[in-house]
Amino acid sequence: MYSAASPLPDQTDRSTSDWQNLDKSHHIHPFTDPKYFDDRGVRIITHGDGCYLWDSDGNKILDGMAGLWCVNIGYGNRELIDVAARQMEILPYCNTFFQTATPPQIELAARIADLTPGDLNHVFFANSGSEANDTVIRLVRHYWKIRGESNRRIFIGRNKGYHGSTLAAVSLGGMQAMQNFDGTVLPDFAHIMEPHWYAHGGDMSVEDFGVAAAQKLEDKILELGPENVAAFIGEPVQGAGGVIDPPMTYWGEIQRICRKYGIVLVADEVICGFGRLGEWFGSQYFGIEPDIICMAKGLSSGYLPISAIAINTDISKTLHEGGAIVHGYTYSGHPVSCAVAQANLNIIEREGLVEKVRQETIPYFRACLNDLADDHPIIGEARGAGLLGALELVQDKSRKTPFAAADGAAMFCRDAALDKGLVMRAVDQAMILCPPLIISKSQIDELIDISRRALDDTALKFGLL
Ligand code: PMP
Repeated sequence: MYSAASPLPDQTDRSTSDWQNLDKSHHIHPFTDPKYFDDRGVRIITHGDGCYLWDSDGNKILDGMAGLWCVNIGYGNRELIDVAARQMEILPYCNTFFQTATPPQIELAARIADLTPGDLNHVFFANSGSEANDTVIRLVRHYWKIRGESNRRIFIGRNKGYHGSTLAAVSLGGMQAMQNFDGTVLPDFAHIMEPHWYAHGGDMSVEDFGVAAAQKLEDKILELGPENVAAFIGEPVQGAGGVIDPPMTYWGEIQRICRKYGIVLVADEVICGFGRLGEWFGSQYFGIEPDIICMAKGLSSGYLPISAIAINTDISKTLHEGGAIVHGYTYSGHPVSCAVAQANLNIIEREGLVEKVRQETIPYFRACLNDLADDHPIIGEARGAGLLGALELVQDKSRKTPFAAADGAAMFCRDAALDKGLVMRAVDQAMILCPPLIISKSQIDELIDISRRALDDTALKFGLL
């Protein structure tokens, strides 16, 4: 029977195996096969500093995934800790339903309106990327009803798109395994091919493929009937689907097609927002002005849960005429999360982090990934943009022969990297990297060195080195 030995977990005298056994007995892990823990325990992460984590056995681990694509300013930032403590003292909670608001909410909404491209001047708060996307679905359908076009209900997303894990977000996304998990896909969602040139481009040039992939949107709109389509949603660079960066010709075409049919364009910037691609928003990197942007993760660098959707003036004006917004969350605009997000944005701005990653870190990171891919026998493609990278594992480079899923090559490589002190993620047959924005060039060298050794181990295991 569990009894808390002390109010703070790090002050207990439990051993690693005590924690592991307790975890096994009581804790269900998201996106994890419970059987994984039948014959081993979880790794207990005890603390973090900068780009590093430490586990309960004292191992220091470079966090090549910035947590889950979120800890952009790194761990242990004193300013954020102090702001959170201070806001908790002043006012730890206040709802936004009863015609009330707090200074941190108001300031943050105005700041987001300022930072986002175009006229995205109105902001709704939620707590996670999934909730932000559920909110988009409800508000956009409500918007079309107010406009007298209530048939416009369908959201078009993309295969391998990731928009979250709630029922609606899973339907919006294009992750087959998630849809199969509970067997529910809600009506009024459609999907088109993801713009992955290496997988689908064949003999086409990258540029031509970008246009052809965008054309799939127009085909789908015509198939469904434009009068039934509410919105198109996409991540500027698809993250959880395997870091799929579209050709530079893609997004402009998508925007053109949305405008042609009067369809709302939504950019899910939950990963790409706040500097990940070397611009404040991925939409700016690709030169588009969406009607709605969803954001989360990097908004608070993951220190507290918060998400937001920024909406353009046209949609906001219509919503203004449509009666009550019958939607919201207890923790919408949580004052402590808002205060922490504001402090996080202050740090990014003060330290010129967006410019710094654009000018220094990103070019170095990309060159290192490309060199690694050129050299290494089991990397078929290095892809991504900004500080988002994927290394596609193959058995035969010239034939692009993938490993069989059952071989578990990517999971093997991930575990090998972790044993050597680096968090990478495995998605299908790709190794994913998304380091904190504060990563230095020498830390990138360390990341590449460990990746190379983990890839060598993987190649050796499969007799390819
Ligand atoms: N959208 C995107 C693009 C994401 O990457 C994620 C999370 N990885 C989400 C939405 C869902 O966010 P959350 O897990 O906070 O619900």
